[in-house]
Amino acid sequence: KTVPQVLADTALQYGARDAAVFPAHGVRWSYSELARKVDDLAAGLLAIGIEPGDRVGIWSPNRPEWLLTQFATARIGAVLVTVNPAYRSAELEYVLNKVACKALIIAEAFKSTNYVEMITSIAPELAEAEAGRLSSSKLPFLRSIIVTSPEPIPGMLRFDELLSLAGPAQRLRLDDITAKLDPDDPINIQFTSGTTGSPKGATLTHFNIVNNARFVVERMRLTADDRLAIPVPLYHCFGMVMGSLGCATQGAAMVFPSEAFEAETALKAVARERCTAFYGVPTMFVAMLDHPAFRNHDLSSLRTGIMAGAPCPIDVMKRVIADMHMREVTIAYGMTETSPVSFQSHCDDPLDRRVSTVGRIHPQLEVKIVDAEGRTVPVGQEGELCTRGYSVMRGYWNDDARTKESIDPAGWMHSGDLATLDREGYCAIVGRVKDMVIRGGENIYPREVEDFLHRHPKVQDVQVFGIPDPKYGEELCAWIVLKPGADATTEDITAFCKGQIAHYKVPRHIRFVEELPMTVTGKPQKFLMRERMAEMLG
Ligand code: ATP
Ligand code: MG
Repeated sequence: KTVPQVLADTALQYGARDAAVFPAHGVRWSYSELARKVDDLAAGLLAIGIEPGDRVGIWSPNRPEWLLTQFATARIGAVLVTVNPAYRSAELEYVLNKVACKALIIAEAFKSTNYVEMITSIAPELAEAEAGRLSSSKLPFLRSIIVTSPEPIPGMLRFDELLSLAGPAQRLRLDDITAKLDPDDPINIQFTSGTTGSPKGATLTHFNIVNNARFVVERMRLTADDRLAIPVPLYHCFGMVMGSLGCATQGAAMVFPSEAFEAETALKAVARERCTAFYGVPTMFVAMLDHPAFRNHDLSSLRTGIMAGAPCPIDVMKRVIADMHMREVTIAYGMTETSPVSFQSHCDDPLDRRVSTVGRIHPQLEVKIVDAEGRTVPVGQEGELCTRGYSVMRGYWNDDARTKESIDPAGWMHSGDLATLDREGYCAIVGRVKDMVIRGGENIYPREVEDFLHRHPKVQDVQVFGIPDPKYGEELCAWIVLKPGADATTEDITAFCKGQIAHYKVPRHIRFVEELPMTVTGKPQKFLMRERMAEMLG
């Protein structure tokens, strides 16, 4: 199936059911309303000259317009380019030109960033242009900017206007275009999180993401009776493939608690909307569990969900099961380049496996674990995780060199992650190859030390990484966020480790911080911590 077929079928079968709820925007759409609005927008995009294959960018946090854009671009075979909401003007300019975006949909502002100002700072002449007919030497491919603002902004079209722009001619074309779509057509240029450096744009097809979304929700047994809370960003595959598209394949309701994650707003949304499932990266779960108001919210409707995106501490998984009622919670592992999920536990898997591994391989995929020379390692030994099958991206957009570095000629996607597989096929992620620390000849996996430090009663969040050291080659650092109101010294932490973990695994440099540098997807950016630590230690 193609993405528009998924939505059409669900709207036919479950038309009256809730499709999407955005409490902060006062929006509650049924599947038939969603499908109707998607058609309005799709026809509007045709009216401003967007054709199948054209790239349309979106630069916005989780808002109702995002969801419409996701399905409307798919409806007319346009390629949706998901721009990281944390980008600033230079990065935006780079991305828009790299993928030659013809239209860009933006929110007015997000957090402290005014998107409108940001884009007019790249191309000031925009403000004088006629809306929908831009011409700028800085952004040579861009024709239209569409903004979610209720007020007119010079040079830009308002999103609402676009919904009513189309005439009968464009509406008549919709079904014809959709019928001609090929599941192997590209539908998305999805950017990676930028955890290890600058984000890369993975080109994905309808076939890639529709199938992956389906397999993901099947492992949680999500049905049309479920209501899934999606606090993870839609700009990332966790939100838009596993989340919104996953719900659409089943007719489940999507609940978007806020534009960007806030612990208490998420708790409230679950309680008010009686959500049965919840998606989050580990730090989101931690922030909710440790929130002072955690106990004030009734989370008893929850049953399942997914923790993914970064190493999931066993202790946090156990608390999610016990305190958030998510007894069927699963862990998923994946990467943007594989649409994204390749491993996921099943909600029926034995508890100890469900909290300590990323489960077993998804259907229709192959896996191997290889050593540095590319040889498959014996069962139980660690090496780089490689996957092959339907979900592997076409490649990085217009970047053959980087594509060849990660997909080998036999079609294996090299993940850059270290993992082990046991005899029954359960996979444990050891950490990123790049994050492994070699101190005085000893290999240290930060993940293991992080898991241990999570057991400290005052530690809310912790990241462990290596920095260059003249004596040992590398030395271990820990950045720790303490629980609200908690107090601890570096000596307390060191004493906690003594005799419990090997001496070389005890972090030499410990820093208490208010927050950790994170990507918008909620992933700790160790490369930034390394840089800052190196500066501080001179
Ligand atoms: P970039 O590639 O731009 O540096 P990124 O790799 O974080 O960023 P994503 O594609 O969003 O971008 O994330 C994929 C990565 O996230 C995986 O390669 C893996 O390192 C990590 N990851 C995802 N799920 C899990 C998990 N369950 N356990 C451990 N790590 C995970
Ligand atoms: Mg990556």
